[in-house]
Amino acid sequence: MRDSFGHEKVTPDERRARIRHVFASVAERYDLMNDLMSFGIHRLWKRSMVKKLQLANDCVVVDLAGGTGDIARAIFRQTGISVIVVDASWQMMAAGRNKDDTPLLWVASEGEKLPFADKSVDLITLSFGLRNMTDIDLALTEIFRCLKPGGQFVCLEFSTPVFWLKPFYELYSRVVIPRLGAFVAREPAAYQYLIESIEKFPDQKHLAGQFTQAGFENVHFSNLSFGISALHYGTRPAGAK
Ligand code: SAM
Repeated sequence: MRDSFGHEKVTPDERRARIRHVFASVAERYDLMNDLMSFGIHRLWKRSMVKKLQLANDCVVVDLAGGTGDIARAIFRQTGISVIVVDASWQMMAAGRNKDDTPLLWVASEGEKLPFADKSVDLITLSFGLRNMTDIDLALTEIFRCLKPGGQFVCLEFSTPVFWLKPFYELYSRVVIPRLGAFVAREPAAYQYLIESIEKFPDQKHLAGQFTQAGFENVHFSNLSFGISALHYGTRPAGAK
């Protein structure tokens, strides 16, 4: 049995260490690779995530697995809120901090153990990070714990495209992306991991079920680019203990 890295099946700790290594090694070229791999479409997906947010300017907002800070920066531009970026990789956050002087807060931590008090956050966003968590259900439980009653969780993640797009998408993912990873990021294994982590990630309905299981209500999703990505929403019930 082999894992996403083509190695024999690994323990959660080994997988975690390898994911850390992936993002440490691609951090400097991460933004460029995102633009090349998606023809810039990731920017439209992120814009679509942020423009639907409705926030008072005293809201506490956390962008989990925020990487180089795209979502946090977009929220700041739209609302003036200084978003707290949380990421397990200081290398990704360092690359993000060097980009500009947007006033963001940067915190090194893991999604499975967030450094926030119970019921202290109004909104948690998570863009292309959930599939990298070692334990997705634990991360969802942590997100739920930190949200205030009525607080919202919005997750942008690769998902399962409609059937007619699947063959083209798989061909592109398996042939083009690893080669881009080799030539541009000089990390073919990292981008091989990326593709396999997308393929293994639960589809739209399954993920919505995991949200509900973690306690969220008003769980719903909307597809982007025919399901290549999806936005999932969940609210912590106002009366939740
Ligand atoms: N959110 C950014 C974006 O949309 O461009 C970055 C997404 S990048 C694909 C995934 C990020 O998740 C990386 O910055 C990585 O360091 C972070 N990450 C991976 N595992 C994590 C974990 N368990 N807890 C927090 N962040 C994690």
